[in-house]
Order: sequence, then structure tokens, then C-alpha cells
Amino acid sequence: MSRITIAIDGYSSCGKSTLAKALAAKLNYAYIDSGAMYRCVTLYCLRNGIIKKKKFDNAEVIATLPNIKLNFEFNPHTKTSETFMNGENVEKLIRTMEVAENVSKISAIKEVREHMVLIQREFGQHKGVVMDGRDIGSHVFPDAELKLFMTADIETRVQRRMDELNSKGEHVDFMEVKINLTNRDYDDVNRKESPLIRAKDAIVLDNTDLSREEQLDYVIKLISGLLLTRD
Ligand code: C5P
Repeated sequence: MSRITIAIDGYSSCGKSTLAKALAAKLNYAYIDSGAMYRCVTLYCLRNGIIKKKKFDNAEVIATLPNIKLNFEFNPHTKTSETFMNGENVEKLIRTMEVAENVSKISAIKEVREHMVLIQREFGQHKGVVMDGRDIGSHVFPDAELKLFMTADIETRVQRRMDELNSKGEHVDFMEVKINLTNRDYDDVNRKESPLIRAKDAIVLDNTDLSREEQLDYVIKLISGLLLTRD
């Protein structure tokens, strides 16, 4: 059966990575979390004093890009791929509120995006990949065989992000998370460079009232139908 490219885009915290990981596991595909890549650049800039009090100089961020080596490694215990930056497992460190509060400004820099997109295309060159993000179907893989555009209502998304942060021991306030998600969505939709948009051929998936299993079943059926007509 032929292997395809699956592009999943959508708003912050609407379960893109949950679905992407489940699909990758089910289909035995690679999973690439493109948001993790922008988060790594942000973490690196925070650690190295390039971002100070949410301010930074674009030229300094761009100059540091060659110092940041990214890769994903499959962890057989967690059964998912984890993010490595310069050989260090940063999977947890990139999920903090501090990173979340800075990442959308970093990801709006044209040169940062160009650099990341090159790496993303390399990761996906052999197909058999599920990649999630904001511009995957519209820009990174415009020829992806399956494009999903995910959404869910804001209260549901805030609750999901809070549950995720709480489970990792970071205790945050509902309003703080709501403001962060709303601001990130605003920045992602309104930036000049490959903003978050629904690709014309993307299927909209509103999962406000869907369980993880229902959502996975729905997409697996879509893929089966797609593969039947191809093979
Ligand atoms: O998906 P996640 O919430 O981890 O992404 C973090 C941030 O990275 C997003 O808010 C967005 O600013 C940026 N991003 C992006 N393009 C992508 C993936 C993520 O601009 N393809």
C-alpha cells in the first residue's frame, strides 16, 4: 500500500499532535511536530539571552540558527517521538509557558520560517509522514495527499492545554492559558509569512465534541478511502 503525506494544521491546542501521534503509530509513519522546532529556537534564544523580557533583535535570532541542530527520536517507552536540540532531549523544556509566550513572535521571522521549512521538507521527503503545525498543508507540503484543518472551541482548548500542563507539574491559571492561546492564534493568523490558513483542499475537523477514539476512527476511514482510490 502506498505511503502518503498527512498534513495537520489548525489553532493552538486543538489536539493536532494527539491525532498526529495516534495516526503515526497506527500507520507506522514518522511523526514530525513542526511546532516543537519553533519552540526549540525559542528555548535556545531564551537560554542564551537573545530573548530578554519578551524582546529580541531579529538579526541575532537569525544569526544563531546554524547553532541549533534538531532531530526527533522515537522513544519506545512513551511510544512517541521526542524532540532533541543539539543532542539534548528538550521534549519537556519546550512546553513551558515561558516558551509558549515567546514562540509566536519568533516563528513570525521570515528567515526562521525558511530555515525550518527546509528541514521539514527533508524530514518528509520519503513520505510516510504525519506532520502537524500551522502551514504544513498550505506551504510546507502543498501536495500532501491528506490535509486536515483542526479546530475546537476556545474553552475546550484551554481546558486541554491546562490538563496537559498540570499533568507535567506546571500549575497555571485558566485566564493565563486562554490569553496565551488567543494571542498565539492572533499572531499566527495575522503574520505576514505563511500565516495560519486553511488550505483550499483541507478537510475541516472540529473536534470539540469528539473523543480521541472517534476522531482517530474518522480520519482512519478517510485515509482508507483515499488509499483505496489510489492503489
Ligand atoms: O504547535 P505548537 O503550539 O507547539 O506551536 C508553537 C508555535 O509555533 C505556534 O504558536 C506557532 O507560532 C508556531 N508554529 C508555526 N508554524 C508551524 C508550527 C508552529 O508558526 N508549522
